Amino acid sequence: MRMVDLIAQKRDGGELSSEDITAFIGEYAAGKIPDYQAAALLMAIYLRGMNRRETVDLTLAMAHSGEMLDLHDVAPFIVDKHSSGGVGDKTSLVVLPLVAALGVPVGKMSGRGLGSSGGTLDKMESFRGWSSALSLAQFKRQLADIGLVLAGQTADLAPADGKLYALRDVTATVSNRSLIAASIMSKKLAAGADAIVLDVKMGSGAFMPTVEAAEDLARLMVDIGQDAGRRVVALISDMNQPLGHAVGNALEVKEALATLRGGGPDDFWQHCLTVAAMMVWLAGAAPTLAAARAAVAAARADGRGLAKFRQLVVAQGGDGRQVDDPSLLPQARYVEPIEARAGGTVAAMDTAELGWVCVRCGGGRLVKSDEIDPAVGFLLTVKVGDRLEAGQVIGEIHADDDMTLQAAQRDIPAALTLVDEPVAPLPLFYKTIDGES
Ligand code: URA
Repeated sequence: MRMVDLIAQKRDGGELSSEDITAFIGEYAAGKIPDYQAAALLMAIYLRGMNRRETVDLTLAMAHSGEMLDLHDVAPFIVDKHSSGGVGDKTSLVVLPLVAALGVPVGKMSGRGLGSSGGTLDKMESFRGWSSALSLAQFKRQLADIGLVLAGQTADLAPADGKLYALRDVTATVSNRSLIAASIMSKKLAAGADAIVLDVKMGSGAFMPTVEAAEDLARLMVDIGQDAGRRVVALISDMNQPLGHAVGNALEVKEALATLRGGGPDDFWQHCLTVAAMMVWLAGAAPTLAAARAAVAAARADGRGLAKFRQLVVAQGGDGRQVDDPSLLPQARYVEPIEARAGGTVAAMDTAELGWVCVRCGGGRLVKSDEIDPAVGFLLTVKVGDRLEAGQVIGEIHADDDMTLQAAQRDIPAALTLVDEPVAPLPLFYKTIDGES
C-alpha cells in the first residue's frame, strides 16, 4: 500500500479496498504513517464519503487496532452509552453512576473534546489527580470492584481512534457520517459492552444538522453494532441549544454534581433520565422502560448515584473532596454577567458557535497540543422560546483573562436569534432507532 495512491484514489471519488483500509489503520496506529498523509486521506474521505462496506471495514480495523475486551469474567452483561457530541453535554457524568448504582455494570471508553463539542475525559480531569489512562487489568479490576469504569483510548483499546480523533479535531474533518460512525462504534466494540445506547444529536451544535442526517448516522451505527452481536438502541436528541446551562469543563462537572444531588436544570435531568432508563431496560434490569425510569429516579433521590460517582472519581485517582464540596473544583479568575443585547423571544441559537466561545476561552483545543483550562466557560440560563428584555442577565461568563472575557460577553448574546413573535420550546428527543424500526 502506498499512502499517496490511497489519498489520490479517494480524492478522485474511488472506493478503498478492505485490504487498503486495514493496512492504513494498522500502519497509522503503529506510527508508520505521518499525520500529514493521514490528514489528507481524512479530508478526501470527508469530501467524497465512504459507502457502507468501507465504513464497516474502517470500524472493524479501528476496533482491532488494539485489544478487543472480553469482560465476561468480571461481569455477566455490560452496558455502555455514547453521545455523538454536543455543547454542554455532560450526560455521562450523571447517567453512568446512576445506572451502575442500580447494579448494572458500566464499562465506558470516552473521548476528549472534538471541534466545538466537549469531551467527558476533559470534564473528568477537572478533578485533581483523576486519570483515564487505565491498563486493561485496571479496567477489569475496577469494573469488578465498583461496577463502573471510565477509560480513554489507550495503547491497548482502539488506539487508531485515539490518534485519528485528535487529528480530525484540528483538521476540520469531524462531521462526516462514516468517520463518526467508525470512531464511535470502534470504541464501543473494543470496550466489550453487550448493550449500547447511542445518543445521536442533531441541530446547530451537533455534527449532524437535521433529524434525517442524525437518523442516517444512527441506523448505520445500530447496524454495525448488531452485525457485531451487540444490542444497540439509538436516541435522536436535540442539540439546537446547549444541554442544561453549563458549558466548560469544571462548570459542567458542577452542574452534573448538582443534578446528582437532585437539582440541576430540568432539561438536562430529563435527558439523563431517558438515557439512563434506556440503559437499565436494555440490560434487562427492569421489566419496562417505565419501571427503569422509576428506578433511576429513586437512585438519584436517595443519593446512590452521587455515592457511585464519588467512587468513580476516587477509584481513578481523583480527589473525592471536590465531589463533596464542588467549590474546590477549578475556579476562573473572572466571573461576569452576560446580558441580552435586545428584547425578544429566543428563536434559535448558533450552538456550535457557543461551543467555540468556550474553546476560545481555553476550554477546548484549537491545535492538538493545546492544554485545556478546566475553569473557563459559561452558564447560559435561557432556552429557545424564552422571552427576554434588553439588558436582561442571561448567564455568566467564567474567564481567566480579560480579552476572552470581553470577547465572550460579545459573542454569546450574538449567537442568539431573537424575534418578536412567540416560539415553541424545543423537544428533547425526536426518535428512537433500534434494529426493528
Ligand atoms: N464521538 C466520537 O467518539 N467520535 C466522533 O467522531 C464523534 C463523536
